[in-house]
Amino acid sequence: MAISNAEFRRTKIIFTLGPATESEEMLEKLITGGADIARLNMAHGKHEWCRAVIRRIRAVSARVGREIGIMMDIKGPEIRTGDVDSPIELKVGETFDFTVKPGDRDGGEEIRSVNVNYQDLVNDIKVGDIVLVDSGLMRFEVLEKNHARIRCKVLIPGQLTSRRHINLPGVKVNLPSFTEKDRLDTLMGIEEGIDFVALSFVREGADIEQLREFLRANKSRAKIIAKIEDQQAISNLDEIVRATDALMVARGDLGIECPYEELPSIQRRAVKACFDHGRAVIIATHMLESMISQPMPTRAEITDVANAVHERADCVMLSGETTVGKYPMDCIRILEKVARRVESEEPVINLAPAFLTGDKFKLLAAAVHLANEMPGITILTFTRQGFMAQGLAAMRPCLAPIYAMTNSIETLRELRILRAIDPYLMTFDSEPNDTIERAITFLVRAGRLQIGDRLIVVTDLLSHDRLVDSIQLRKVH
Ligand code: PEP
Repeated sequence: MAISNAEFRRTKIIFTLGPATESEEMLEKLITGGADIARLNMAHGKHEWCRAVIRRIRAVSARVGREIGIMMDIKGPEIRTGDVDSPIELKVGETFDFTVKPGDRDGGEEIRSVNVNYQDLVNDIKVGDIVLVDSGLMRFEVLEKNHARIRCKVLIPGQLTSRRHINLPGVKVNLPSFTEKDRLDTLMGIEEGIDFVALSFVREGADIEQLREFLRANKSRAKIIAKIEDQQAISNLDEIVRATDALMVARGDLGIECPYEELPSIQRRAVKACFDHGRAVIIATHMLESMISQPMPTRAEITDVANAVHERADCVMLSGETTVGKYPMDCIRILEKVARRVESEEPVINLAPAFLTGDKFKLLAAAVHLANEMPGITILTFTRQGFMAQGLAAMRPCLAPIYAMTNSIETLRELRILRAIDPYLMTFDSEPNDTIERAITFLVRAGRLQIGDRLIVVTDLLSHDRLVDSIQLRKVH
């Protein structure tokens, strides 16, 4: 049965791989059940495991006939505490040291301490700064420092165990954006043919350029996703968005690095910046957090997902819900249901991205304006590298689904990130009309179109060695 426009889901779903989702059986459920991109979190994934799971995804996708994208999320610069012999129970008001040269410390036995893996900590930080440990659970204020340690007061205590993540809100950290571990992880990802590399703790446009150069040098066409996670990224938002292919609003770390009351406006600003520059945007973290252990989300979570859909983000992302959660498939179903419902009420607005202005883009914008005037119509486009589909998705069509036909499997997988784009693979004929007719026949057979459906066909297929851009109105017959 053909799916109606109302049944078409525009918002894409990313899930993070983990023990709960690594099996072939579960991957099949997720891929056929609507997941669009699988994410490998390199903070945890070992190479052998990653290679095996990437190959499994490709095999399952080929078997079920639905290719999804694979994102490798590299860890980026990270500051961590060292090992402790046994958990340290901190007390409020206690003086506590973070050391970079433990041998030189002047604290004696009475001041407890932990090592930190970042030598420049003592240079970057100043008295009065805040140190947050273990996703912000423990809070310290810097009282004084010397070359070997920073001495802090415990503001919010907790139990300090080994190798905990440290956040330094507002501190400009002098760490490389692309570490040796990132380099090795990315090389492995390139060998396995990943589609996206997500760069953690991006601070400026140059971080993206560096990764782009690395990908180019290693002959990878993987798209870059900039994860914005701290205050510096927010200050440089525009240049980051310009440099990247897509942006992830990584609310986990953002919520620690920035005042939490700022988070909703940061999300809004990030979505708007991506819209203005025609970049994809992902809203990540804690979307259905309670579903790690519960079969139903909270009302607040449903509303948070709805808000992301309402803002017209390209993707929503699951993390713990699908790595270790008990209900990964239910999470996908719920995201799908909420997205469809919210999308069905979207007001029809012709949006105008501020920085997309070339002739080609104007043509695509005209196609989307036309579609917004014609409820029930569908857009059909043809794209080799994905630019055509990207331009159409950038206009955030309100009513029409977009079926994007491509002759490249890499492009197909990359298109999974774009809002409202449903990509399919086909070969292209030398005669554009034959390609269009075959695409329509294919989509009717696949249940995506019905006889009598109206279409806006947007194509730049080659005709006698010349590229012809066109918008056509057609009817399925
Ligand atoms: C986040 O901080 O929200 C995030 C997605 O990054 P990670 O899971 O790598 O901490």
